[in-house]
Amino acid sequence: MEKGMKGITTRNHLEPSRIRLQLSGIVQGVGFRPFVSRLATQLQLTGFVYNHPRGVTIEAQGPASQLEAFQTRLTSQAPPAARIDRVATEFVPCAVEASFSIRTSRADGAATAIVSPDLCVCSECLAELQDVANRRFGYPFINCTQCGPRFTIVRRLPYDRANTTMESFIMCDACQAEYDNPRDRRFHAQPNACPTCGPQVWFVDADHRHDASWFEGRAQAAAQGGDLGETAIQRTREAIQNGQVVAVKGIGGFHLICDATNVNAVATLRQRKQRSAKPLAVMVQDLAAAKRIVHVGPIEQAMLTSVARPIVLASLRVRRAEVAEQATDWCRAVAPRLGWLGILLPQSPLHELLTTNMPPLVFTSGNLSEEPLVFRNRDAHTRLQTLADAFLLHDRDIHTPCDDSVIRVIDDQPMFLRRARGYVPIPISLRHVHAESFDEDARIGSTHQLNVLEETGKSERTGTLNTTESGKMILGVGAELKATFCLIQGDQAHVSQHLGDMEDLTTLRVFEYALDNLLAQSGKRVELIAHDLHPSMLSTQWATRYAAQHDLPMLAIQHHHAHVAAVMAEQTAKDLPAEVLGVCFDGTGYGTDGAIWGGEWLLVSSSGSRRVAHLKYVPLPGGDAAVRNPYRMALAHLWAAKLDWDPRLPCVQACETHELSVLLQQLKRNVNCIPTSSVGRWFDAVASIIGIQQSVDYEAQAALELEAAAGELRAEDFDAVREPAWQAQYGAESVANQVTADQPLVFDPSPMVRAVVNEVLGGVPAERIARQFHAAVVQMTVEMCQQLQAKHGVATVALCGGVFQNAILTRAVSHGLRQTGFEVLLPRLLPPNDAAISLGQAQIASWQVDSR
Ligand SMILES: [Zn+2]
Ligand SMILES: [Zn+2]
Ligand SMILES: [Zn+2]
Repeated sequence: MEKGMKGITTRNHLEPSRIRLQLSGIVQGVGFRPFVSRLATQLQLTGFVYNHPRGVTIEAQGPASQLEAFQTRLTSQAPPAARIDRVATEFVPCAVEASFSIRTSRADGAATAIVSPDLCVCSECLAELQDVANRRFGYPFINCTQCGPRFTIVRRLPYDRANTTMESFIMCDACQAEYDNPRDRRFHAQPNACPTCGPQVWFVDADHRHDASWFEGRAQAAAQGGDLGETAIQRTREAIQNGQVVAVKGIGGFHLICDATNVNAVATLRQRKQRSAKPLAVMVQDLAAAKRIVHVGPIEQAMLTSVARPIVLASLRVRRAEVAEQATDWCRAVAPRLGWLGILLPQSPLHELLTTNMPPLVFTSGNLSEEPLVFRNRDAHTRLQTLADAFLLHDRDIHTPCDDSVIRVIDDQPMFLRRARGYVPIPISLRHVHAESFDEDARIGSTHQLNVLEETGKSERTGTLNTTESGKMILGVGAELKATFCLIQGDQAHVSQHLGDMEDLTTLRVFEYALDNLLAQSGKRVELIAHDLHPSMLSTQWATRYAAQHDLPMLAIQHHHAHVAAVMAEQTAKDLPAEVLGVCFDGTGYGTDGAIWGGEWLLVSSSGSRRVAHLKYVPLPGGDAAVRNPYRMALAHLWAAKLDWDPRLPCVQACETHELSVLLQQLKRNVNCIPTSSVGRWFDAVASIIGIQQSVDYEAQAALELEAAAGELRAEDFDAVREPAWQAQYGAESVANQVTADQPLVFDPSPMVRAVVNEVLGGVPAERIARQFHAAVVQMTVEMCQQLQAKHGVATVALCGGVFQNAILTRAVSHGLRQTGFEVLLPRLLPPNDAAISLGQAQIASWQVDSR
């Protein structure tokens, strides 16, 4: 406890005292005020509690011993979803009052309280949902103070019903009685509702889906014979069982749902969504059902059952022939050519009702390809019309759209591939940025972490909530793919949910909407904008306009510098040396020399970044065309390695004769060829040379299939790449020849490309070549780090960039680095991909502000 409380023991224990507690953290929307009220009443204290935009204020009065008990239990018995970051305590004069009350929230001042993320249905509500005698039996919007929607329905702070999209529903007497009763678990549950007074679902069948009036509201649909409630859910289940694709409005937006075991239904969905190969997530009713399809380790299990209910990537059981044969086909149709599947458990009562006693369901975002998620009923009518046969709508408005989070266990810990629903808006604490010492006494409630990811990724840091109101508000606008933005203020970084790919104006509008929401909630203005170095990126252009409109200073940040800074921003003070060696492997990032970087070793500290090594440049012929068609990248790599375009090679066969000759001229004359050091493109090229994939339907497809082909690395793979054919590539000499003292080291990939070509021509199976290539990249990465350590004395390596979403690569590189004495930092609170760029940008800007 803080200083003020220590004096309490010296006072007369019988004389009443009064204390005022200011709490911050995740204390709204998690049943905190009801909990405080019950606790105070039990201890016969008087006083009050109320919410305000910065957290919760409590005044409690009673004998000193009771007040001490109150403080202790406030910590030890707080609701599971609460996270108390800071509590400030002071004595105040006693007052005359009869009881303890929950007062009206106050809306004054700047907002720094943290709204809880959306929470899946709790066990008590689930039991009621399934109890025929309960008045909420089968009601898809059942919730309590421990569960239900939060972030997606909040319009402004503090978190009160009137500030959410539940405002329009007036509680019935029964619900109001629960809401007003301090002993009820729905006491002050803001989204409290029942079939009589709350939101409702309705079904729009194939015959009426073209009629816009059916999307306006349940009354309009019912007037024309539409089904509501239980019948609507039953009709949805039947439609799915009949092979239809149904667009279902959920917590953060619409999903397209069909029977995953119906290969025709999946094919229809793919064709309509223009996604021939992208893996689709699958929702199953419970853990047991998940375990029948995928291998669920302890971490996967903890993630699957966590209140955030993310999509978890897990290895398919069918690979090991442990499942009935008929299961094989549908798994392959859902996640073609991959050995893993994205799986999740129901994320809301509605999804519980849809999955119970149903086959596994395809559960994919309600949008066309990379367009933003649809979250309004009227947009569903216009934008999902061509995708869905039928619709299950509801009238609890979604204020902030939020996609599903995606997690994969990498190097024995969960890693985000997408961070959104269930985790946003939890901020990231940037304690090491500010030198102020962290007062351990001020930290209570650290056991109330939101979920396992928090516990494993960030176990000993709960961080202080931002109290430095003078801290500059810095905006990082992110990159292009996997767009997010980040607002840093003081020691808190608020990274937005995944917003989609910033390649068109629709995503830009989603970006602006989400930013306006967050700024409006905080009541603050942006004071500095950090953006990518690439001048023609949509996010850079937006930043330029915004800065001009608001007369703000701007800061351009190199892409990979931002990647490394994002990993550094996650770390606690004791983890982080002054300088870190960032190994950044990804697809595309604009370099300071105008080339496309993506295989970089950077020395990064709070004062800047230095490129100390990189992959040797290879021409990227025709930019996007080379990204979509890995065979073009393969041919460019062969050309750069001075290797023949042997007609026996799959990459040569994939390219038509005319295109071959045009491409050759393009490379010879260096026309429309940008030099690139991208490791992502190198993986694409190797996937093509081996014959795994020649043209891609989704980002990183070729590299993912290369990883899937490799399966798991074995000791024999590492032995094999020590043979001369592979060995030549990273001999110190080939590197040393190109080195002067200040120049970066350059790694030449061509010997490794030659080794791959020789194996392909020698008839070595693709799986084995894929494994050996991975092993060779691991060795090269570790050796390069060792050389750089000898030269620069760094002992801590941060791995980042989209390529490190590759589980076998990341595990083996981390292992290899640790074995050679390095400290390894991996991104755990944000994905390794471009979703983290906004945090890196804002972090670098914040370092610069601090150093002034
Ligand atoms: Zn509940
Ligand atoms: Zn009601
Ligand atoms: Zn990147």
